[in-house]
Amino acid sequence: MSEQTNILHNIPVDALTGAISVPIYQTSTFVQEAPGVHKGFDYARTNNPTRQVLENLIAKLEEGTHGFAFASGLAAIDAVLKLLKSGDEIIAVDDIYGGAFRLFTHIYEKFGIRVTYVDTSNLHEVTNAITNKTKLIWIESPTNPTLKISDIAAISKLAKANHCLLCVDNTFASPAAQKPITLGADLVVHSATKYLSGHSDVIAGLVVTRSKELGEKIKFIQNASGGILAPFDSWLTIRGIETLGLRIKQHASNALEIARYLQQEDFINQVYYPGLTSHPNHELAKQQQRYFGGVVSFDLKVDDKALARNIVSNTTYFKLAESLGGVKSLICLPSEMTHKSIPESIRKAAGVSDSLIRLSVGLEDVEDLITDLKQSIQKTKKQTLLTA
Ligand SMILES: *Cc1c(COP(=O)(O)O)cnc(C)c1O
Repeated sequence: MSEQTNILHNIPVDALTGAISVPIYQTSTFVQEAPGVHKGFDYARTNNPTRQVLENLIAKLEEGTHGFAFASGLAAIDAVLKLLKSGDEIIAVDDIYGGAFRLFTHIYEKFGIRVTYVDTSNLHEVTNAITNKTKLIWIESPTNPTLKISDIAAISKLAKANHCLLCVDNTFASPAAQKPITLGADLVVHSATKYLSGHSDVIAGLVVTRSKELGEKIKFIQNASGGILAPFDSWLTIRGIETLGLRIKQHASNALEIARYLQQEDFINQVYYPGLTSHPNHELAKQQQRYFGGVVSFDLKVDDKALARNIVSNTTYFKLAESLGGVKSLICLPSEMTHKSIPESIRKAAGVSDSLIRLSVGLEDVEDLITDLKQSIQKTKKQTLLTA
């Protein structure tokens, strides 16, 4: 079955009314026939029919046992971290999403959880970082914003051999491109704010578990901590996922053309995109992903923040904004925006220079997007000559 059919086939018709669009159950509680006798719903923090459709859908798409919807990607990540206890250690990818870094370092380290950051695209670094206290390996693949690829199957074997869990933040790939649980991961998290909802109109997070046992633990945490996704936002996310298969295909095709164009620009030093044969992990990406995704990054020949600021300010179709994964193209300067909360030395060691620019390639016609980047670079060159 194609991904697009699989998605649409797993969004049920409302059993009560036949509504083809999932009803929004905007209710906090459910009337019971007798104490404890009800239709499977008692209080909407614990369970809500609209949220349940989304949770079952993401579990199906990621081929896991259970899905859980949270108020944001970070709330989803937070729920996974609550599986740990004081004294446990985490090994995390070094160019981790900035908000996850902030949560790990500034909140969980206070509770006695230690985090070691390594380049998880290098298996030796992961192996060397494991101790008998390691309980969780945390990777993103592709990473943000340098699009490094980690070998999910190999790291999952390593995790199993050392009795720790592997969690993959699958936000950048989406299940239409990559299914980490089928490669051995124990948990998958998403910022559904990005590709899953796909229209830059909702903040949402998801967790999927590999086993029933992990599913029960996350269910307990979700209900106990309460960071759930509201019914309307659940509906928006379902509505977005309806077209995920089509969107990811087009995002990836546009992104590849843009990456190829950028490679020929003399102003540009390096283009980061797993779909390029020049990408160091291109073969691995081809193996574990169906599409290479919609994010392309590049840095400038001169590592000059002012130049990079001009390029991101001079585009018309690429809107200057944080976030990614929506139908409209976005451009951003990670060092000043998404990665500002990461200390400069760690940020630069992970390859995020002052002039690194990240594109979230949207669904506009790719010719128009390339024309936009060309004119922005031309305009920046002129501005540079004028001020030189
Ligand atoms: C955006 C993002 C998050 C955080 O998600 P929110 O929905 O903004 O809380 C986590 N991981 C990655 C890779 C992201 O891009």
